[in-house]
Amino acid sequence: MNFNSIDTLQYSSKLRTKAIRLDTKELLVAKLSGTSQETDITDPTNCGGVGRIRHFRRWTAFGWPENSLPIDPANHKLGIDSGDVALAQVFQNAACNWRCWYCYVPFDLLKADEQKGLWLTADELVDRYRAHEHPPAIIDLSGGQPDLTPEWIPWTMDALEKGGLSEKTFLWSDDNLSTDFFWTKLSTSEIDRVVSYRNYAKVGCFKGFDSSSFSFNTRAAPALFDQQFSIFKRIVSLGIDVYGYATFTAPDNKAIDAKMTEFVDRLQAISPLLPLRVVPLCVSAFRPAQDEMRINAVHQKSMEIQQEAIKCWNLEIESRFSLHQRNLPIYEVAI
Ligand code: SF4
Repeated sequence: MNFNSIDTLQYSSKLRTKAIRLDTKELLVAKLSGTSQETDITDPTNCGGVGRIRHFRRWTAFGWPENSLPIDPANHKLGIDSGDVALAQVFQNAACNWRCWYCYVPFDLLKADEQKGLWLTADELVDRYRAHEHPPAIIDLSGGQPDLTPEWIPWTMDALEKGGLSEKTFLWSDDNLSTDFFWTKLSTSEIDRVVSYRNYAKVGCFKGFDSSSFSFNTRAAPALFDQQFSIFKRIVSLGIDVYGYATFTAPDNKAIDAKMTEFVDRLQAISPLLPLRVVPLCVSAFRPAQDEMRINAVHQKSMEIQQEAIKCWNLEIESRFSLHQRNLPIYEVAI
């Protein structure tokens, strides 16, 4: 696949067809055991090889903001004191429509390849989860791109409720902000289900600070950077408890301060306090990216440029928001 070669619309539809069985309510879930991703994981894979425990940590990297996601929203909703680490049970759907060079998932697990996954219902996943001796309170529907098959979210909510787990678990799902399937594939009642489920929040990931860095990171068309904002805005409009991640690797640092100013402006155009719900993530070289030779000199350089970008981001946040606003728990930032 060449740089910028992904036809996101077409590829998303193709992957969706291969990753969900609507008649039996099964999803293609990535098998993680035996993959290069396993070498980046602290604990062994679980749930029959399709699950893993993730340690979410508040501390990230020098010069980068703390990451309170999903630690603080989860603990707040569950009514427990927040700490600096939270464990989550992660499942990954076996499909993603983009190919971020830094992705910590082997690209083989993103193609909706039946040989690399297992067909499971949300009920079966929840059964595997609850079979643990000490299941963590957070369940993370990750990817891949879960929103290629957004049914996964309400189906999991139903399974948790059926199993008597909806009050004591917090459901978190990732979204790369690339499709409108949430609106075009779910029924009105399924959307209402997601919106009204108490112990749920979602995170959308902005893949760059401008169209050039976005395209460099994802291999998608630059114009889809704009679409990330419109999709995020639609999620906010629904009233879902939503947060953001952002990655700042870029092929060059031209006018990086002005570009960051515009990026934050665009977030504020969605909602004035939204930047305080967005956590920039420092990209590093995960094992699958190294093994698959995805990292060349430009990518190496982009990891240095992200250090310039985060300084610009920090300046924007400090200049636009009071100390009181910056110190608000992330779930109290009203958007
Ligand atoms: S959108 Fe997420 S899952 Fe897909 S390639 Fe990028 S980082 Fe990986």
